[in-house]
Amino acid sequence: MSEFKELKQLLDDTMIRSLTFLEDLPARRVGPQADARRLRESLRLPLPEQPQDPLRVVAELADAVEPGLVATAGPRYFGFVIGGALPAALAADWLATAWDQNAGATVVSPAASVAEEVAGEWLKELLGLPAHASVGFVTGGQMANFTGLAAGRQHVLAELGWDVQHDGLMGAPQITVIVGQERHVTIDRALRLLGLGTSCITPVATDDQGRMRPDALRDALERADGPFIVCAQVGNVNSGAIDPVGAICEIAHEHGAWVHVDGAFGLWAAASARLRPLVEGMQHADSWATDAHKWLNVPYDCGLAFVADSDSHRAAMTATAEYIPPRIGGERDAVDWNPEFSRRARGFAVYAALRSLGRGGVESLIDRCCAHARRFAEALAARDDIEILSEVVLNQVLVRFLDPDGDHDERTRAVIAAVQEDGTTWMGGTTWHGMGAMRISVSNWSTTAEDVDRSVAAILAAANRI
Ligand SMILES: *Cc1c(COP(=O)(O)O)cnc(C)c1O
Repeated sequence: MSEFKELKQLLDDTMIRSLTFLEDLPARRVGPQADARRLRESLRLPLPEQPQDPLRVVAELADAVEPGLVATAGPRYFGFVIGGALPAALAADWLATAWDQNAGATVVSPAASVAEEVAGEWLKELLGLPAHASVGFVTGGQMANFTGLAAGRQHVLAELGWDVQHDGLMGAPQITVIVGQERHVTIDRALRLLGLGTSCITPVATDDQGRMRPDALRDALERADGPFIVCAQVGNVNSGAIDPVGAICEIAHEHGAWVHVDGAFGLWAAASARLRPLVEGMQHADSWATDAHKWLNVPYDCGLAFVADSDSHRAAMTATAEYIPPRIGGERDAVDWNPEFSRRARGFAVYAALRSLGRGGVESLIDRCCAHARRFAEALAARDDIEILSEVVLNQVLVRFLDPDGDHDERTRAVIAAVQEDGTTWMGGTTWHGMGAMRISVSNWSTTAEDVDRSVAAILAAANRI
């Protein structure tokens, strides 16, 4: 057989496997069928001495991992905050793999570069961010937070005449980073990676929904010494609550602070006319982090960092080498905006997702998920022994199962375990303001009202048993 014929057979086989998986996805048990131990038994073979037939390698890999796959991309997975893969995004991502482009610089792939440039412009338009903001296509919310905060660190120190790119942080003015008490853990980790350490954090009080309190922010700014970076959160990972980001920008800017917005999923509220009032004033921030692999439903991985002051963004990230030609004619090179150097061409999937949905499609995706979250909350709240712990403002629901003669936390944990075991649907757990809770996150493009009803039925059946 010619080499190409072999490749074709391998990819035909792979496509059939992919289609079989996707066709079964909605009906599949949502949680895994095999645990790590069983998977290790089938995957842990001696490293072969000699080359093996690719067709057989891939077939055996796929068969071995199959029971350990989780239907996270399917319509009844509501754990963490996890989107699926829109058809156009999935197909474009397949091509990105076949094309195997390095998106690091225009000279390596003008195609990857321009697709990101255009997708970046569409995203700013869709999310109501300043048209002049610079954009980085990173791996996820974690690195988007890192990138925005790196730009902020660069900027606030440059204002004091300190060149952090050259001189680092030893001997630098101390930066105070003001964050809400209920920030996401990736903020702390970004600060660790940036060498600021978590001791630079001044946490400020949040309200009963998990939103930063503007009065507490004002107090913190008045009590501490600058320079300041303030982190607002648009979309609390538990409650979905959105900080009063407009007020936060106003107060923070009075103190010369850089405002970074962690909007890993919540930033997409800006794409919905119904939700937009919740993020009013967000465009006045200095940097924004969001994910495409959560609510935009592109395949893993893809996060997005936006920075209004592109000079600070570029200064924080840029890298040059003798073997990279100078940016010809002002072309956009991703190495200027990303912490990565060589990089997967994530822009193709984002471009395809945005074009296939259009503005209206993104809006209805966001609104539909929020409506499903309310449907969950209403159906569950109808029971006396079930409590919804926070306002359902976005796509997140927190559910507590009461035990009249026992421990609510214990019953809640037991119901979550029973739901996961049943396999119709999958939800995780959390602790919210000291109370054990089930977390429901509706982030998938393919979830229908019927999926919600089937999942509610599975939850109620589990609650009846416990
Ligand atoms: C998910 C999430 C993150 C982290 O994003 P990753 O894509 O997992 O790196 C950060 N902040 C918030 C609020 C999130 O929900």
